[in-house]
Amino acid sequence: MTDKKLPRPEPFRNGLTLTGWSSVAIHAGHTQDPLYAHQVPIYASSTFVYDEAEQGMRRFSGQEEGYIYSRWGNPTFTVAENKIAALETFGIDVNGSPLQVKGILHASGMAAITTLFLSNLKAGDKILTHYSLYGGTEEIITRVLPALGITAVIVDLRDLNKAETAMKNDPAIKMLYLETPANPTIQCVDIDALTKLAKQRRLITACDNTFATPYLQQPFRFGVDFIIHSTTKFLNGHGTAIGGIFLGRDIEFMKTRAYTMAKTLGGSANPFDAFLLINGIKTLEVRMERHCHNAMEVAKFLEKHKALSKVNYTGLTDHPDHATAMKQMRHPGAMLSFELKKGLQGGIDFMNKLKMCVRTVSLGTCDTLLSHPASMTHYSVPKEEKEKYGITDGLIRMNVGIESVQDIISDLDQALS
Ligand code: PLP
Repeated sequence: MTDKKLPRPEPFRNGLTLTGWSSVAIHAGHTQDPLYAHQVPIYASSTFVYDEAEQGMRRFSGQEEGYIYSRWGNPTFTVAENKIAALETFGIDVNGSPLQVKGILHASGMAAITTLFLSNLKAGDKILTHYSLYGGTEEIITRVLPALGITAVIVDLRDLNKAETAMKNDPAIKMLYLETPANPTIQCVDIDALTKLAKQRRLITACDNTFATPYLQQPFRFGVDFIIHSTTKFLNGHGTAIGGIFLGRDIEFMKTRAYTMAKTLGGSANPFDAFLLINGIKTLEVRMERHCHNAMEVAKFLEKHKALSKVNYTGLTDHPDHATAMKQMRHPGAMLSFELKKGLQGGIDFMNKLKMCVRTVSLGTCDTLLSHPASMTHYSVPKEEKEKYGITDGLIRMNVGIESVQDIISDLDQALS
């Protein structure tokens, strides 16, 4: 299943071309450090100096490229930005030339999402999106943006007819916003089909690619304009830093409007977190291969378990989004969820019995993490509201880690018994 070869070799140093995904993940974005450090240095400096006053003038006026102040950009961020851009465009050609995109690193996924919305939308504009979104994204769309006059139309975008009708009926819709696979229900929407519909109406298209990572899915391949990531998750891979990135294929827009928005909103990254991210990305392919292998084994085990009423894993052929996931993803991913027959109390008891797997809300780390939305993240959300989003009392969300799979399964088995 793994396609490790680049269809188009990636140009590299000294005339060498790279042909494999991990070679790009490890080397892209790096330039030789002037002091010959092997690893990317952490440029822990808030500001940068000029050789002469005229140089400062050239930098501020944009005549000369160079760093000024770390909220505006930093050499450690640049490596992370270029590395993720190389992976999101890996092997993608547009009109015979390699696709070029620009990324802006942020302090968090939410900061990247904020820049995306505020650089593209104005009062009166609407976002077309779907029910199953990360809670923070849903919150900014429904509680923060309306105060600025930006509202949302939320429909089940797995139904293309509903998507088309919404686009046709409402000329105020300016952006199609997707998250696939989505948090926490693992629902998938068809990026290609929805982007084609959106482009017929000249809508801006954006996709949150956090759950998949560029190793499993590349939304730019389907013509999406913008990608955002919470790099806190699989890109970092070790749960050591919060971060986000906003990437766009309109380089001019990214360098002007998006950059101005990012630096003035102030949700900029920090050099140490960027360093951790760079190191995490180097092992993305090997981690994702193992995550996905383990997730499939765990899903097969859970599918047969008597204590469960449902297993949501897009790798299982009876999952309603299996075909969509397999159309656009290399593997179905590391995230799954399942429903306990014993509801809320069953969920609490199960979580309390876990011995190796970790009780926490995040995802994307080497260790297996489980959360129980009804007693944790969605505790205060009314039941009917939760059910609209597919969150039942007995739902458990799982980030399948890269431990030895037999140990993950035996921990689940004893906690379910
Ligand atoms: N997008 C998705 C899919 C997420 O799961 C999250 C956080 O869990 C975010 C965005 C927000 O990212 P951050 O917590 O880094 O701000």
